[in-house]
Amino acid sequence: MNIQNYINGEFVNPVSNNWLDNYNPSNGEVYSQIPNSSSEDVANAYKSAAEAFPKWSNSTLEERSRILIKISELLESNLERFAMAESKDNGKPLSLAREIDIPRAASNFRFFGNAITQFASESHESVGLNAVNFTLRQPIGVVGCISPWNLPLYLFTWKIAPAIAAGNCVVAKPSEVTPMTAYLLGEICTEAGLPKGVLNIVHGLGTTTGQAIVEHPNIKAISFTGGTETGAHIARVAAPMFKKLSLELGGKNPNIIFADCDYENMLATTVRSSFANQGQICLCGSRIFVEEAIFEKFKKDFVQKVKQLKVGHPSDKNTNIGALVSKSHLEKVENYVKIAEDEGGKILCGGLEVTIEGFENGYYMQPTIIEIETNQCRINQEEVFGPVVTIMSFKTDEEALQLANDVKYGLSATLWTNNLNRTMQFSKQLQTGIVWVNTWMLRDLRTPFGGAKESGVGREGGFEALRFFTEPKNVCIKY
Ligand code: NAD
Repeated sequence: MNIQNYINGEFVNPVSNNWLDNYNPSNGEVYSQIPNSSSEDVANAYKSAAEAFPKWSNSTLEERSRILIKISELLESNLERFAMAESKDNGKPLSLAREIDIPRAASNFRFFGNAITQFASESHESVGLNAVNFTLRQPIGVVGCISPWNLPLYLFTWKIAPAIAAGNCVVAKPSEVTPMTAYLLGEICTEAGLPKGVLNIVHGLGTTTGQAIVEHPNIKAISFTGGTETGAHIARVAAPMFKKLSLELGGKNPNIIFADCDYENMLATTVRSSFANQGQICLCGSRIFVEEAIFEKFKKDFVQKVKQLKVGHPSDKNTNIGALVSKSHLEKVENYVKIAEDEGGKILCGGLEVTIEGFENGYYMQPTIIEIETNQCRINQEEVFGPVVTIMSFKTDEEALQLANDVKYGLSATLWTNNLNRTMQFSKQLQTGIVWVNTWMLRDLRTPFGGAKESGVGREGGFEALRFFTEPKNVCIKY
């Protein structure tokens, strides 16, 4: 089948009629073609968005809210179809797509459909000057949204929903590796009554289609989620045009475990925070630091639990770990296991490819735990983004904090302790955008989301996202 671009409410082929192969990671077969869109397609998408903007930006908040909530309802009523498409395209367990990815995509639209009706701006009475100042928040115009492959529809809609709620029109590009649910979203938007041109979806490679979005002189803001190197490149391209940028980038998150934690809860959650979605979540805790007193016990229990995880076909209901997203990504992750071994890391379990009967060409790999002696090794300093974690012990709070912060990334951290004083000290001193204490990936969509250091610039989520997608203007009225 052919996936098409969604421009001005219509499904269209790329102007050049060039196509790319789209692979099913569970069996390694090409199962669809996607447009290899050029700057011409992006220009068409921009034109359609620009034409839709005057009317959409003047639509009432009730109207926008009604349409966003309708999109959310339609995603919910098409849950199974979307979950199956996501699982097939990405390799993730169907159960995960059904329980997390698609419900969250629906929540994104519902949340911002409601949030926009509560969004307000500030006013300041300039006492003694007989003047009043207020902040007029206006949509930016046409904005670009570019998303990665790990949580395809979840992250695509996390950008699109606030952008259109705030009155912008959008040119969006999903990852070329996982285009399917973004394609299906076009149908839902039409059915929900989203006016033509408000959302335009172009498919293609990052270096051509994505680059054309970033380079387009009239696309004034870019919301990007992806790798740190790509983010740095986008920042360089966008800076001379003074574009507004939100960059959600890579992570190398610490999971710090103290002996005083609720052990069973920590153990079960750590299995999830290490290997959910094959470890391909930017928030996964890939560097596990354990207090010396419980290190040996934790090591034994963790290895035992991880060995029980079943690697299997994504649609098998017993599967815990599905396929990695692509062959090249599988090779990258395997290469990191070799690097870790060369650096003296000890593989406690996993490390090998898995062959699933009937799906021998799929991209499967065992969940892998590596014991290391120092944080200063490539496996602990570079993002692997796969089913690989390291473990290492520490003695004191100071040492744990130093290890956690000793990395260029700063997306999230998880802390396991029942000591309130320690909780506050770590919360203040961890150099990350998110700190989870005694939990992982508990998300409240009102909270600011994003990373520090090389994990990004800017925050998404809640009113932060609505602030990003609007331009504040100071109006001063003298009376
Ligand atoms: P990537 O940077 O390769 O690609 C992300 C998106 O950018 C894709 O749509 C891609 O086509 C596009 N792109 C690539 N080059 C581009 C260019 N020159 N101009 C414009 N667009 C371009 O990342 P990926 O491999 O798809 O995703 C994995 C990365 O995403 C990991 O580093 C992960 O940590 C990160 N990530 C971060 C978050 C977060 O919230 N911080 C969430 C999920 C994933």
